[in-house]
Amino acid sequence: MIDTNIFQDKTAVYYTLGCKLNFSETSTIAKALQELGVRKARKGEEADICVINTCSVTEVADKKCRQAIHKLLKQHPNAFVVVTGCYAQLKPDTIADIEGVDMVLGAEQKKDLAHYLGNLQKKKVGEIHASPVKDIRSFAPSCSRGDRTRFFLKVQDGCDYFCSYCTIPLARGRSRNGSIASLVEQAKKAAAEGGKEIVLTGVNIGDFGRSTGETFFDLVKALDEVEGIERFRISSIEPNLLTDEIIDYVAHSRHFMPHFHIPLQSGCDEVLKLMRRRYDTNLFAAKIDRIRSVMPDAFIGVDVIVGTRGETEDYFEQSCNFLRQLDVTQLHVFSYSERPGTQALKIEPAVSPQEKHRRSQCLLEISDEKWHAFYARHIGQIMPVLLERSKSGMPMHGFSANYIRVEVPHDDALDNCVVQVQLGNFNADSTALEGMILTR
Ligand code: SF4
Repeated sequence: MIDTNIFQDKTAVYYTLGCKLNFSETSTIAKALQELGVRKARKGEEADICVINTCSVTEVADKKCRQAIHKLLKQHPNAFVVVTGCYAQLKPDTIADIEGVDMVLGAEQKKDLAHYLGNLQKKKVGEIHASPVKDIRSFAPSCSRGDRTRFFLKVQDGCDYFCSYCTIPLARGRSRNGSIASLVEQAKKAAAEGGKEIVLTGVNIGDFGRSTGETFFDLVKALDEVEGIERFRISSIEPNLLTDEIIDYVAHSRHFMPHFHIPLQSGCDEVLKLMRRRYDTNLFAAKIDRIRSVMPDAFIGVDVIVGTRGETEDYFEQSCNFLRQLDVTQLHVFSYSERPGTQALKIEPAVSPQEKHRRSQCLLEISDEKWHAFYARHIGQIMPVLLERSKSGMPMHGFSANYIRVEVPHDDALDNCVVQVQLGNFNADSTALEGMILTR
């Protein structure tokens, strides 16, 4: 039982690092504390509670987490400090040893954060509550509001794939998901709160259904029926799980947008084997062809990692050549980071930081060319754009169905509205196309 009196008139700050999933979960934690009477601290106000939701995707992410904890301890010296998230699950002792940290909560405990806070008395030594990774089993539902327009609906958590470079299965546990019925309910609630767009998030969302015996395709069809949500986007899906039936369904769906985000990680089959990915370049190319055959104008974003252990100069060249001829829109380029406990650490040779940087730059150039060409070929077209709030006097931005960022002059009345826009040239900083509003 929680003694709600303790929380009355208390204030909290929330700090999130990492992925959309983490942001979504932090907002669920904040909602739970708000229901107990905790309000968000104002800018500059000292808070009673600090919640830090961490990430551990790279070494840099770990460092940023530690920096964030120190910064918040300085800003809120008397606050009860609780740290959770992937870094907390993987390195609870390191975090508990930081002077001033009161509690470290693992992945399984995150959803019950309010229950662990007790009487909010600061501890002499950081307390750790973290289950071993094999015992992380529960699915914590979460649907957060990114802004007025967009919601992030967590549909799945954890991963069973164990790619050789990835630490996520060690931090988030096995694959599990919410039921279709519960997710449809959350989508309806988002619509009732004025949400127009929902982004489906998870760690390996194509693997949806492990814990409920359902399929991701069934989820897509059920969500497509939810009244009021005008747009759904699938955040990131493994190529081997992006089935032709999903692609064909999206092509004809009114609400699922022609927008895909598919992790490739390398365009060289030898490297894919070292990474223990579950597809080869032939399968990936076939998926892209399939999408293009039914949605020639779809936005296709592709994740690539450079400098993985074992990626020789020759393998990297093969990857570049594959990516150059691949008909995708943008590359999201990441530098490989060594993660403790992963199989990739046994692979030789390692790639130097300078070489990783050079390879990143090569891929970013390829990406820029593709992105620019994609935008340029849409100039002059008319398409619906969902506009998002901007600061008064600043231009407004929004996205087309196929994820082209569009800039229009500020007009408060158009916040969260879908309008017909004719796409013009690139804007001043070349991050969007200028749009001329035709109908409201
Ligand atoms: S699919 Fe591979 S890279 Fe993605 S979360 Fe699972 S183990 Fe990590």
